[in-house]
Amino acid sequence: MRLLIVEDEIHLAEALVQILRKNNYTVDASYDGEAGLDNALSNIYDLILLDIMLPKMDGISLLKAIRKEGIATPVILLTAKGEISDKVIGLDSGADDYLAKPFATEELLARIRAMSRRKGEVLPDNTLKFGDIELNTSTLKLCTDSKDVKITLKESELLEFLILRKNTATSKESIIEKLWGFDAEVEHNHVEVYISFLRKKLTFLHSKVGINTVRGVGYILEVQS
Ligand code: CA
Repeated sequence: MRLLIVEDEIHLAEALVQILRKNNYTVDASYDGEAGLDNALSNIYDLILLDIMLPKMDGISLLKAIRKEGIATPVILLTAKGEISDKVIGLDSGADDYLAKPFATEELLARIRAMSRRKGEVLPDNTLKFGDIELNTSTLKLCTDSKDVKITLKESELLEFLILRKNTATSKESIIEKLWGFDAEVEHNHVEVYISFLRKKLTFLHSKVGINTVRGVGYILEVQS
């Protein structure tokens, strides 16, 4: 999962980035509303943590702007104590949840897990299932009923992306944007390398799941018959 944090309290933002990275999320941070809007509009995020009081553009305006563009990324508002009316406005403006500052790390992580479950495929304990495989994005373990193998964070992110887009061909460009971010100088063959790592691990597991190449388009995750 790729998360965006929009928070102008640098210390809080940096602490959040560290905690989330430790929990195997890919995280970007923006420190004002305009930068946050730019990032959010790229539509590469699975979840946005959004502060309300921000320089240049406040969180509620940012939220309205992305919803107006049809971006449905779940948003958790980070509200300061006592901003009850902000909470109501926030939920009315298209936020999915809110968390009052200061909050405990465990609560934040629980809310994030709940939010990703709401999207459908992510089971409790951060596991995703597809065909005969189960991917645990916390422990970085990929398994079938009989075997398991450790995978790297990037492999896990790639496989998660393919699982969530199941039955849809995924281009190398969108994989690069998702895994490395917008401005990354990553070549197409980088993606090919990670795809081949994953294929080797699926073969090792004797899984029926395969990553098929769709000529001129990209990759698709399929259960081979
Ligand atoms: Ca703030």
